[in-house]
Amino acid sequence: MMVNNKGRLFILSGPSGSGKDTIMRELLSRRKDICLSISSITRPPRQGEIPGEKYDFISKEKFETMLLNGEFLEYNTYLGNYYGTPKKPIERWISCGRNVLLEIDVNGARKVREAMSGVLSVFIMPPSMQVLKERLTGRSTESAEAVSSRLQAAIDEIGCANEYDYIIVNDNITEAVNNLEAIINADRFSYKSMENFVKEVLESAKSCDWKAVGGIRQ
Ligand code: 5GP
Repeated sequence: MMVNNKGRLFILSGPSGSGKDTIMRELLSRRKDICLSISSITRPPRQGEIPGEKYDFISKEKFETMLLNGEFLEYNTYLGNYYGTPKKPIERWISCGRNVLLEIDVNGARKVREAMSGVLSVFIMPPSMQVLKERLTGRSTESAEAVSSRLQAAIDEIGCANEYDYIIVNDNITEAVNNLEAIINADRFSYKSMENFVKEVLESAKSCDWKAVGGIRQ
């Protein structure tokens, strides 16, 4: 029985060091019903970044044209470059029944919730500030200054966790992904996901006299 014909948009946010990238990759490898939203951005690719994997690298001119045409669900600028979430692919996937995952910061998440209804949002937390600090200092590429500004940014982001539907504590990657899957599985049976089915059943009830049982009217 096919009861659920619309996909859902899932937002995944969390501070730098929360492990959300790893969680996202593991979830996508487990679940073929979920696809990742690819952001359009205007900075050049970094070494090892494959176009179309996480980002589409486009020119500023093209971005501005798309912006004028209303093609972004939300966008922002970082260090002089544009970053935007294209609307059309998300709408197309959702209408075909695919679930779409959007990895985005708290500000972007806020804009997406304003622009679209029925979004499920999940915030990934570190188990403690101490663990977060250890994870960030463990990245040998970061200076002490960079770590301390990331920690401050993390505190600001965690302060917005109340805007999310669910909170997952990432103490252990496997457990965190299991918990995320449990949320996604349970969401299939939420009213929002089942709304079309409930409406179809009610609509079909209009076309027949269902109160007549065995040919005898009640
Ligand atoms: P980076 O250049 O380091 O990959 O990303 C810079 C920032 O842009 C990160 O905070 C990242 O989360 C954010 N970002 C990536 N894609 C999007 C997007 O589509 N929209 C918004 N608002 N931010 C994005």
